[in-house]
Amino acid sequence: MSDQVQSKLLKRMSTIKHKILVLSGKGGVGKSTVSTQLAFSLALSRKDIRVGILDVDICGPSIPKMLGIDKNEVFTCTEGWVPVKVKLSGDDDDNRLCCMSIGFLLQSEDDAVVWRGPKKHSMIQQFLEDTYWGDLDALIIDTPPGTSDEHITLAEILKESKPDGAIIVTTPQGVSLADVRKEINFCNKLGIPVLGVVENMSGFACPCCNEITNIFSSGGGRKLAEQFNIDFLGQIPIDPQLASCEDEGKNFLQSFPESASAKELENITNKI
Ligand code: ADP
Repeated sequence: MSDQVQSKLLKRMSTIKHKILVLSGKGGVGKSTVSTQLAFSLALSRKDIRVGILDVDICGPSIPKMLGIDKNEVFTCTEGWVPVKVKLSGDDDDNRLCCMSIGFLLQSEDDAVVWRGPKKHSMIQQFLEDTYWGDLDALIIDTPPGTSDEHITLAEILKESKPDGAIIVTTPQGVSLADVRKEINFCNKLGIPVLGVVENMSGFACPCCNEITNIFSSGGGRKLAEQFNIDFLGQIPIDPQLASCEDEGKNFLQSFPESASAKELENITNKI
């Protein structure tokens, strides 16, 4: 990376107080869900907080849909690409949660799937270089599943601006936990602090009484955290209301604030 690019990136990142990566060993475990809901939860935690969510999941950018902004376009100003704003209900200031997704820049959903490593690398670099966030208290970065070239690119680009760390998302089953071990080793190798593990799809939350039923095993994430001596941040149950809100692009936390999963997301937010 040239000195000019590096200094541009550092300048971009210097207006962001905290940068948190969200990782998972494989797809479908709820990484984008955790990224999205944590960004909402942080933005809702205080009126004076501004939060950004960056979707770098090149091959499956799902965050705009979850936020209900997938039909929006990204505009440019003299400073670069302007992230899309997400309105929080009851909030006069509509600039407290915003999102930039690689999905906004792709011609079609199949575009990036056929790209080779160098093209993905330059796309991610340009993406970070050209997005104009302004002042942010926190930026949540949703990464692709696994530990691919894209992660190495991201880690290299963010190295100088020092990310706060990574949250690793897993499901309770053993297969998923084996993948998490790789993520932890990957973070250790690249010098990214692990902020903790979130166990998602941990039991089923009944929408009527909020009772949690453990359909599969539970507690694997906690055991893993103990084994690696890292923090266990919490366990989010399977919640049909959460799934349908994300499908319809609705704000889950403000729609179902009393649900078990909303409460757990609030607890997790308080720990990070
Ligand atoms: P990933 O980013 O790991 O591929 P997603 O966050 O896209 O996974 O989740 C995959 C699907 O599962 C989505 O439809 C999402 O709404 C749903 N989902 C994720 N976590 C939960 C949960 N705790 N309860 C209900 N549905 C969930």
